[in-house]
Amino acid sequence: LLFERVGGVVAMELARELVSGMKVVACGISASRGVDLGMTARQTGDPVAHWTVTGSVTDLLEAACAGVLVVPARVDGVTHFFAVSAEEAGVTIGDQPSLDPSQRLGSITLNAAPARLVGSAGDAGLQAAVVERARLLIAAQALGAAQKALNLTSDYAKQRVAFGQPIGRFQAIKHPLADMLVRVENARSAVYHAAWLLDERSSEAPRAVLMAKAVATENAVKVVHQAIQCHGGIGFTWEHDLHLHLRRAKAAELALGRPDDLFDAIGQTLLHPSALSADLAPAAAVSKGAQDSMFYDDFRAWLDENLPEGWGTSDYRMPRGPAERLEFARALQARFALGNWVAIHWPREFGGRGATLAQQVIFNSELVSRGVPQMPGHRGLTIVGPTLIEHGTPEQQERFLERIRSGEDLWAGGFSEPEAGSDLAALRTRAVIEGATVIVNGQKIWTSSAHWCNWIYTLVRTDPDSPKHEGISVVAIPLDSPGVVVRPIRQINGISTFNEVFFEDVRVPIDNIIGPLNQGWTVNRTTLSHEHFTLFIGSQARYRRSLDDIIAMACDRPSMTPSGIAPHLRGRIARAWATSQLIMINGLRNVARVQAGRPPGAAGSIAKVFGQEAEKDLFELALDITGPAGLLDRGADGAVGRGKWLFGYLGARAATIGGGTSEIHKNKIAEGVLGMPRDLWADGADH
Ligand SMILES: Cc1cc2nc3c(=O)[nH]c(=O)nc-3n(C[C@H](O)[C@H](O)[C@H](O)COP(=O)(O)OP(=O)(O)OC[C@H]3O[C@@H](n4cnc5c(N)ncnc54)[C@H](O)[C@@H]3O)c2cc1C
Repeated sequence: LLFERVGGVVAMELARELVSGMKVVACGISASRGVDLGMTARQTGDPVAHWTVTGSVTDLLEAACAGVLVVPARVDGVTHFFAVSAEEAGVTIGDQPSLDPSQRLGSITLNAAPARLVGSAGDAGLQAAVVERARLLIAAQALGAAQKALNLTSDYAKQRVAFGQPIGRFQAIKHPLADMLVRVENARSAVYHAAWLLDERSSEAPRAVLMAKAVATENAVKVVHQAIQCHGGIGFTWEHDLHLHLRRAKAAELALGRPDDLFDAIGQTLLHPSALSADLAPAAAVSKGAQDSMFYDDFRAWLDENLPEGWGTSDYRMPRGPAERLEFARALQARFALGNWVAIHWPREFGGRGATLAQQVIFNSELVSRGVPQMPGHRGLTIVGPTLIEHGTPEQQERFLERIRSGEDLWAGGFSEPEAGSDLAALRTRAVIEGATVIVNGQKIWTSSAHWCNWIYTLVRTDPDSPKHEGISVVAIPLDSPGVVVRPIRQINGISTFNEVFFEDVRVPIDNIIGPLNQGWTVNRTTLSHEHFTLFIGSQARYRRSLDDIIAMACDRPSMTPSGIAPHLRGRIARAWATSQLIMINGLRNVARVQAGRPPGAAGSIAKVFGQEAEKDLFELALDITGPAGLLDRGADGAVGRGKWLFGYLGARAATIGGGTSEIHKNKIAEGVLGMPRDLWADGADH
């Protein structure tokens, strides 16, 4: 950077020496003070070649091995960079015993040491840019340390035996391993993103670098801590490499700004509603061909013409009551279906567009940016439709698919039962076939939206004598069938969005069985795998909208402390902002991976584990910002945001349960990605 931005004869000469490997040229950066070393310089002759520099520092990064040091020093209050050779008189470089012995700090004392002028650092921007690059490189090193610690631990967990089992079979090892993987991937996303923005010379780069340094180093330290714990006694030895990674990670965390300080600095930039950052535009980030660009133009033109009058303006009001909202959303879905703008990922022959991944990203991000609500038939569009396309008979496809697209049929998902949740294959709802009729008896529970859907996609046991994962079938049941009772369950937040669904001698035609009889488990695996790679766009947008509201609320509550929002809350806001960035970057990295023809890996489970915990933290933060005022619920005088934060806080408790609990997803990550042995009690089929 110095050579590129500063230029000049000396700079070029140093650049050549550096590149040729003739000399180790180190930049004078103090771990505690950055490039503000407090040194002074004096001109003694020629304006380039004859200078002296005076001053001392005890914690220069990587200075111990330097042949030439490029140090910033002041001349009449202006900072310039000077080259000081280690062999010159008046130069004392000491090797400091350091936390990270593989990258020792150096002490340096310059006593009127001869120096050459490299160039003026005059503008503060250049000094900041030097620190920025240093922070990013440190973050990248921390990422490397974390990755290595994870690899060592995952290998060790497969070999080390205790109680007759590889320790990797214990969830007390598996779950930390899954956490470690999530942390490593977040660190990687933060580092890649900042490097990319620096290359692009984006105005967002400075904040992205602060985030990369904070996220990567903090995560690295936590990963190595967990790695040592998972190794037991050997992890505490000098002999094992882990302590080197701990030293590297912790040193990276402490040098040039601790995570708390960096998050606080980010928080200060966020706490003006006008200063909110733009997110990465997903549509701009995916690689797309000419056809995808045409698709983009077509879709935008269609939306301009077809969204209701006034949509997107501050005057536009959506219906308020739940029934009116549902009716509105249903009409919207029907309109989108007419234009062929729902189920775009379905093949063309079934009414879709056979959309590419890039097109799905474009589509979802455009919907999100225009504030179009989730389609009420989303379960049919993303789960039931693709399953029918893959496993349904032509008659079933004819009967159901168009009605799913148009929103005439709304589907609930009948999986969980009172005795079968995480252990879904323990389900007991029984279906007996009599001639051409299927008779269903049993109960589903926690069934979202069953009170306003008209069909339920139901897993039933059709052969009780077969092993657990066999003898299950999928059957489509109209929710208005005689013998079906839907009973809403009141939730933690007072409302009812999920239900109990009872089946008593419910009779449906045998044609309602989807896929082969008794192979429902396999059919259902396809169903669950149809969760799309682009779902993160909607989740990130919802998270981001809530965060923006929280920031606006925080800015509106200057009463929190006399000088504004308390620093610890400011730091938490910044952490939440970093989370919203990571959800987006992780998702885009996954899209890029799939676009390049590589398997998506554990991205789905990583996104779930990380995003679910993050959602809970976000609403906890919101309530903590409201303080005692948050005690007031909806309907109370003075309730902040008319109680919506309290409502959100309570509702967010579902995040780590619905769609599979965090514990089950951590098992999937540890077993599916890191190759840990399965739980001893796990039976039969894969997750
Ligand atoms: C808001 C919401 C909406 C939902 N919507 C639907 C829906 O539409 N359709 C539907 O079918 N279901 C739905 N569910 C149900 C959801 O899928 C289940 O609640 C979830 O799978 C957990 O099952 P469970 O409640 O029986 O808990 P359990 O399986 O009994 O789990 C209890 C605890 O034990 C832990 N545990 C269980 N097994 C293991 C293991 N092997 N290793 C480690 N820990 C374990 C769990 O992680 C959890 O902490 C919904 C749930 C919620 C909260």
